[in-house]
Amino acid sequence: MITTSEKVTAEDTLIRLIHKLEQTQSLSREEWTQLIRGRTPKATEYLFERAREIRIRHYGHDVYIRGLIEFTNYCKNDCYYCGIRKSNSNAQRYRLSKEDILSCCEQGYALGFRTFVLQGGEDKWFTDERLADIVASIRSGWKDCAITLSVGERSADSYQRLFDAGANRFLLRHETYDHEHYSRLHPDTLTAAHRQECLWNLKKIGYQVGTGFMVGSPYQTPELLADDMLFLKELDPQMVGIGPFIPHHDTPFAKEPAGTADLTLYMLGLIRLMLPKVLLPATTALGTIAPGGREKGILAGANVVMPNLSPASVREKYLLYDNKLCTGSEAAESLADLRRRMESIGYQVTVSRGDSLNM
Ligand code: SAH
Repeated sequence: MITTSEKVTAEDTLIRLIHKLEQTQSLSREEWTQLIRGRTPKATEYLFERAREIRIRHYGHDVYIRGLIEFTNYCKNDCYYCGIRKSNSNAQRYRLSKEDILSCCEQGYALGFRTFVLQGGEDKWFTDERLADIVASIRSGWKDCAITLSVGERSADSYQRLFDAGANRFLLRHETYDHEHYSRLHPDTLTAAHRQECLWNLKKIGYQVGTGFMVGSPYQTPELLADDMLFLKELDPQMVGIGPFIPHHDTPFAKEPAGTADLTLYMLGLIRLMLPKVLLPATTALGTIAPGGREKGILAGANVVMPNLSPASVREKYLLYDNKLCTGSEAAESLADLRRRMESIGYQVTVSRGDSLNM
């Protein structure tokens, strides 16, 4: 039995750690583990208050928007968690043409987007030549916009070529830092070491880099999340995307339990304190797992949302996990709805590139 006084002490320890994190922006692996494992509602409330204040100090009440163009769901990889893994023969595969992609940008620009995110599976059809050509066309058509790529692991030369063509940012979640945990989520062809090497290469080339991880992925422990936090600190990226793991019915992890919104929100708050100026999206997965998830994300310290700008006809095919949201305020054309939702919690969607202050 935990007595009341012991409970107060445990709570005090958490508050003290959160305070230390805010003051020093760093904790040891043991401290991180304790803070993550010991999570209580009271400490969470305190954390979110601090996270909001820090976010408002650097970014005001602005919410940056990114137009997400899911341009291919072909993938040569077989990640155990992902609905578009190559072994999923039930996935209906599609690939957008250059014209399709440019028309998404045109519509997106008119709606007020100043960042386009091109995300896809690792699709060999998009050679460096083809992808660089698309990037160059977007660059010349929309000079005031940022171009973000999220196309997985490629060679340093390839990243350089895409950068030279005009891409500014790159999203590549490290998924989990620990090598053994990584190997339980991916087949042997993929390694944590190579994924992390890609991130360092991207940084060296000069991309604004985003990384991140799934919360509640199978076999994850507080110690492993502590390692993720230490890696984020070391990499010091411009953006961090995290979201709950959500099972997909046609994957080896179909029967695994989903991650929770509560832990995801808590991790968002902790990241805001550790990297005060980082860009932090309230992700689609967070919106999918909990009603009002994105709003809760903003109130936990997030400052970015990424509505779906893909053509409506393909949206349901980019199914990374079950019930993935792609309608309502998740859809780029429903920006008015998103604006209202953000205003209802005291924040405003802005029309700007929204570059990271963590440079
Ligand atoms: N091929 C690109 C894009 C991957 S999809 C790349 O390798 O970066 C974008 C992100 O979706 C992944 O990084 C992963 O973290 C997330 N994701 C995939 N399957 C998921 C699932 N079942 N639940 C939650 N997030 C998932």
